Amino acid sequence: VPPSEHSLRRLRLAAGLAGEKLDALIVSALPNIRYLTGFTGSNALLLVHPDTAILFTDPRYAIQAAEETDCRLRIARGPLPNLLLSILKRKPVKTVGFEKSRIPYDLWESLDKDLPSRTRLKPAVGLVEQLRAVKSPIEIASIRRSVEILCQAFAAALPTIRHGIREFELAAELDHQMRLLGADQPAFETIVASGPRSALPHARPTSKTLDYNELLLMDMGAHHAGFASDMTRMAFLGRPSPQASLLVGAVRQAQAAAVASVRPGVKASAVDRTARDVLKTAGLDRLFTHSTGHGLGLEVHESPRIGKREKTPLQAGMVVTIEPGVYMKGFGGVRIEDTVLVTETGCEVLTTTPKELLEI
Ligand code: ZN
Ligand code: ZN
Repeated sequence: VPPSEHSLRRLRLAAGLAGEKLDALIVSALPNIRYLTGFTGSNALLLVHPDTAILFTDPRYAIQAAEETDCRLRIARGPLPNLLLSILKRKPVKTVGFEKSRIPYDLWESLDKDLPSRTRLKPAVGLVEQLRAVKSPIEIASIRRSVEILCQAFAAALPTIRHGIREFELAAELDHQMRLLGADQPAFETIVASGPRSALPHARPTSKTLDYNELLLMDMGAHHAGFASDMTRMAFLGRPSPQASLLVGAVRQAQAAAVASVRPGVKASAVDRTARDVLKTAGLDRLFTHSTGHGLGLEVHESPRIGKREKTPLQAGMVVTIEPGVYMKGFGGVRIEDTVLVTETGCEVLTTTPKELLEI
């Protein structure tokens, strides 16, 4: 029997523990637990040791966990940390790592209080996230399918876009189509923002109606087999105003230049710089208030961040978004976003939906 994808991931993590001077690692972030075990429930802890991994969950998930995971399983009748501690105390562990930025304070507190004095707690940052940043062929296939579903859902929802419908109606239609076409669920709350509201990069859909002579921004993502996709497209109801055309033209140029710069070995910050330089030439860089993109996988935002300060070099197998945007208070905003796979020789834009401003 070939080892499962999950057990290979655990082996890779376990192999890196010694280098971090760790005898074991407590994984508390649910997406990291899912990555390492396949378990999709909402209450779990994972103890990773160089030669074993034990998943802790509660009785509600006893059947599900046994179906989803091939690692050792312990069902806790009481609080998970108590059972984890009782097992940890029996192991000759000198240094145990914990996920510094993703551990509940009460869990850290009980570990700190109840671990035997021979065991030291050591903060660890991004050990699992680092592994997750580079996708396996199976993961890439899931993301590819997730992107396909998203592009099909967008096309299927297009006829809904018309004067007078409300932002939340269009958002609901996009979500509905994603589900019908095979998404597990939308990857995040779908953004539909029209007119001046499109200047809010993370606007929530409201009861505002779509009106003529306004920009319309749609940002949506699907989850398929747990893996996310992410896309933003722009529309205009009526003939685009010169101002709208100018913004869209500049953002499209910035987005295309940034995509063209994606290849293995290039620093994430250099890709961000490329988008920013194009917008600077257009005099719009001060309206570009977020980073150029982000990695995506089991989570919509994961490593690497495509931003000013991220020195990480891109590697083949990373999947990132490229999504520059400009936001003008009172007028509106423009963002164009694709999901992009870093390949051995450059990159492949997975998103197939046309990028031009949709005139409706
Ligand atoms: Zn997005
Ligand atoms: Zn995004």
